[in-house]
Parts: sequence; C-alpha cells; structure tokens
Amino acid sequence: MSDYQSYMKGSPFEVKVISARFSLPDSTSIDTFLAHEGYQALAKAFQMGPEAVINEMKNSQLRGRGGAGFNTGLKWSFVPKQTDKPKYVVCNADESEPATCKDRPLMEYDPHQLIEGIIIAGYAIGAHQGYIYIRGEYRYLMEVLDRAIAEAYARGYLGKDIQGSGFDFELCTHTGAGAYECGEETALLNSLEGLRGYPRVKPPFPAVVGVYGCPTIVNNVETLCNAPHIVLKGAEWFAGLGTPKNGGTRLFCLSGHINRPGVYELPMGFPLRKMIEEVGGGIPRGKKLKSVIPGGSSCPLLTADEIDVPMDFDSLAKIGSMLGSGGVVMIDEDTCMVKVAQRIMKFYAHESCGWCIPCREGTAWLKRLLDRLHGGAGVTGDPDTALDVSYNILGKTLCPLGDAAAMPTISIVKKFRSEFDEHVRLGGCPYERKSAAVQAAR
Ligand code: SF4
Repeated sequence: MSDYQSYMKGSPFEVKVISARFSLPDSTSIDTFLAHEGYQALAKAFQMGPEAVINEMKNSQLRGRGGAGFNTGLKWSFVPKQTDKPKYVVCNADESEPATCKDRPLMEYDPHQLIEGIIIAGYAIGAHQGYIYIRGEYRYLMEVLDRAIAEAYARGYLGKDIQGSGFDFELCTHTGAGAYECGEETALLNSLEGLRGYPRVKPPFPAVVGVYGCPTIVNNVETLCNAPHIVLKGAEWFAGLGTPKNGGTRLFCLSGHINRPGVYELPMGFPLRKMIEEVGGGIPRGKKLKSVIPGGSSCPLLTADEIDVPMDFDSLAKIGSMLGSGGVVMIDEDTCMVKVAQRIMKFYAHESCGWCIPCREGTAWLKRLLDRLHGGAGVTGDPDTALDVSYNILGKTLCPLGDAAAMPTISIVKKFRSEFDEHVRLGGCPYERKSAAVQAAR
C-alpha cells in the first residue's frame, strides 16, 4: 500500500467525484463507504429498472476512460436483451499504458465504489456474474479488492437476492500476468478464459460474443466508478461537469518534467495549459516546455505551441491527438526527442504479442532503426524510413497496439524532424554531447 499523499497531491482546481472518499480514514471499509452514500445508487437503480439506468448512462455523456472514449451507456445498450445465454460484466483493471496510474488509487482507496459500479452495470444489462481482471503487477491490490468483495457478500450487496431486490450477482477477481496486450478487451477475454492473450477478430464485438462466447460488457475501472454517481445524482448533473458530449471529470496523471507530479481529478475539458502551469506547478528549474504526451504513450505528441486545448476527447481529436488514458507527460527543452521516440518504441516492440506481421516486424524494425539513429549510426534516409514503416503499421493491424506504436512515432518524426536530421549530421545525440561537455567542464 502506498501513502495517499505521495501521488494524490491535491489542487484547488479539483472537482472530486470519484476521488471524494480517498482521504477518509479507513476508506476501503464498507462501513466508511456506507456512511458516505455507499450502495445508495444501487438501491436507486433497483427502483429505476434496467432500461432507465442505461438511458441515464447514455445521457450522462460518460465516455470510456480506458482510452477509446466510446459512450458507455450506448455500449451497454448493445447487449442483447433477449438471449438464452448468460451475460457478463468484465472490469478491465489491466492498467498498463505507460504514464497512467489512475485506476490504481480507485482500487486502492475506494474499492466499494468500483464494486457498486460493476453491480449496477450487471443489473442494467441483465448479467449475474462479474470479473475484475487485474494486471499482474497490481497483484497487491487484489487483497484490497478481495477483502471488499468479501465485505459486500457479508452485508448482502453481492450474492443472491441483493438487498431483497430479487437480483443475484456474483463477483470475483482474476489476475493477468502483466501483458500490455491484455488491456485490449478481446485479448483480455481470451486471457480470462485461460487462453493466450491474443486479440480476437472483431466483429463480433464482446457485447454480443464475449467471454465464453456470451454477451459481455468490458469497461475500464474509472468508467465503472462513475456509474454510481450518475445513477444517484443524475445524467444532467454529470454531463454538466464537463464539455458537450464529454461528461464528468477525469483522473489525470501528471508526470515527466513537472513540479507537482500526481493524480488529479479535474473536469473534462480542463485547459491543458492551466493543467501544466497551475495544477502541476510548471516545468522544473524554470525550463521551457518542448512537448506533451496528452493521454499515455500511444497518443500523438503535442508541441509547446499546441497546449491551448481543452482536455476532452473531441478537442484533442481535432488537433490530431487523443485524450487516451489520461496520462499527461511533460517533456522539457533539454530532452532529446529521438530518445523519446526510441524509449516509446522499446516498450511497444517488447509488448507486441506477435500475432500480426505489421506490428510484430514493424515495431522491431522501428526499435532497431531508432536505436541506430540515436546511437550515432543513422543514415540520411532513416527519418523517412521511420515514417514509411510507421504508416505501414497504422491501420493495418489486428488490434490497436500497432496504431499505438505508430502514432507517437509519426508525430515525433514530423514535429521534431530537425532533431532526427541533426543526429544523422552529427553522427550522435547532440543532447548527450552537450551534457557530456557540461560534465567535463565541471
Ligand atoms: Fe499483437 Fe501487435 Fe497485432 Fe495487436 S497489433 S495483435 S499486439 S501483433
């Protein structure tokens, strides 16, 4: 367990909805949860009925917080109502996107909020079984979740005839082995079934053919944590917190070259510049900002001239990037962008599952090319080759990991092309040379 203060630093700009209970004493216990509106949304959902719950979710403009940003209520509505198959709710707790650590405090400090969200989802779609699929590296959080699940069973919020409603719901945790690919919903379902974590060809989508071949909704932890608040306080209230078609708040994870790194709950559409300068306290040692990764390492990077943008799905898409998973990384003026591209590609080449050729071969080629270029053995055509390989991955792979590798590379080569050419011209990294010269002069 980590110290709450170590990464939830707090800011006057925060609007605390899903993080509101984090700082309460004994925040993981069911008694604390019940004393602070816990399981009241579930009782209200039972009164509303499944159809009304789905409509409320749709109207709230809650969009998936895992990265894709699809309307959550709409996703729930795709699950067939008339079917003789069992239905399932799967919580995607495989938080693996580099720079993203916002599902972690949600499970660590308020596990019952997630459990309530999962039960509400199950009730809305008519499922009676849920799973929390959690990444291998978060194994320690399973203890927190398992304890909370046991409490919920003991108090009648899970199991048969929940609170006399006639609705039954079972829930358990399941750990992955720590593969980034298993954050992709169909790879996750394969892994959950005990198969290798390869993605499935879509369609059919999991809402129709999911785990064990049955209708399944797969939602991210943060997405599901919002459900109780929407049911309790209403779609209109939730939608009003954000910008049009981007309801609610978002847990943003600020990292990299920033004075106050941490996780902050801010309204959707919060201005990026203000997030960097006022919430995060600006760039350390008075340096200039060079670039920003706005939503985890798979997003196209922004230059310092592009930070006057509201942080919501549509505004980021308009300028050619993505809100992604909420991992916002600041990069200062003294950072080599070739090195940034090289480091990102090292991750994706390692995490490629190898199922399809453009990603398996392309990420490995790009890694070798960027290693060579940064190491001083680059040739004139290398930046164009990097673009060519990236465009031959983009949109040509079985799952989004290929795009996740190609998009940041394309943006870095295009926006910081002069740095690539400089590496070729000098036969090495100008930033490392400058740093070595400074060391030598001391
Ligand atoms: Fe596997 Fe990459 Fe293809 Fe996805 S894109 S299926 S991770 S090889």
